[in-house]
Amino acid sequence: MTFHIITIFPDIFNSYFNESILKRAQENKLIKIKIHDLRDWTADKHKTVDDTPYGGGAGMVMKVEPIYKAVKALKSQIPNPKSQINSKFNPPAGGQNSKFILLSAKGKTWNQQMAKKYSKLDEIILICGRYEGVDERVKKFVDEEISIGDYVLTGGEIPAMAIVDSVTRLLPGVLGNIESAKYESHAVPGVLEYPQYTRPEIFSAGGKKLRVPKVLLSGNHKEIETWREKHSKKTKNF
Ligand code: SAM
Repeated sequence: MTFHIITIFPDIFNSYFNESILKRAQENKLIKIKIHDLRDWTADKHKTVDDTPYGGGAGMVMKVEPIYKAVKALKSQIPNPKSQINSKFNPPAGGQNSKFILLSAKGKTWNQQMAKKYSKLDEIILICGRYEGVDERVKKFVDEEISIGDYVLTGGEIPAMAIVDSVTRLLPGVLGNIESAKYESHAVPGVLEYPQYTRPEIFSAGGKKLRVPKVLLSGNHKEIETWREKHSKKTKNF
């Protein structure tokens, strides 16, 4: 699985992608993460990626040309050129097992079921907006517009990290214990994981003793399983 991230702030990703599970997944060649500086697809000496909005209004809008060129360049690099999204508007080709995603507060809300579906792809291309957003015409040559929640962030870089992270966890071999992803919250739509405890058995706080439920200390696997099932919650959406 290869992730491509198109951004005007390539350095933002260094720290997060070079720690813990994501670092190991790259070292073990389970994923590749390629960060592309959008300014490399500009033609002027100032490497301009934004301009004022037609019709007036606050802030700047990201220009369509550099993003189009970036998408076109990446589509030509991706093997298996059977894109279903090729139309008269689109740059040519793009792998059948790839998805070009525009990150946007207006998009479809990302969830665990989408992460599962996307974990079957070979290439995911994430386009990070900034400023007041991107020229609407960019939507003509991406597959999907995705939001990570109903709030507005300063840029698409945090959403890109969230998508890379949530998809990578689901790839075979990434988590030490395959069971971890199977029983996590949202693995089954609407079901949340049971409560977890670790040492100490009794924790004193504010004059109160907070104890670990006895059944978890019993060593009785059947009873523990029953307790965990009972204490898994359903979210309000289901
Ligand atoms: N003016 C835009 C609006 O009202 O929808 C918000 C633009 S936001 C300041 C700049 C960029 O951050 C967006 O183009 C998008 O790439 C990213 N972004 C912000 N919130 C996001 C979210 N909830 N999910 C995904 N991307 C988001």
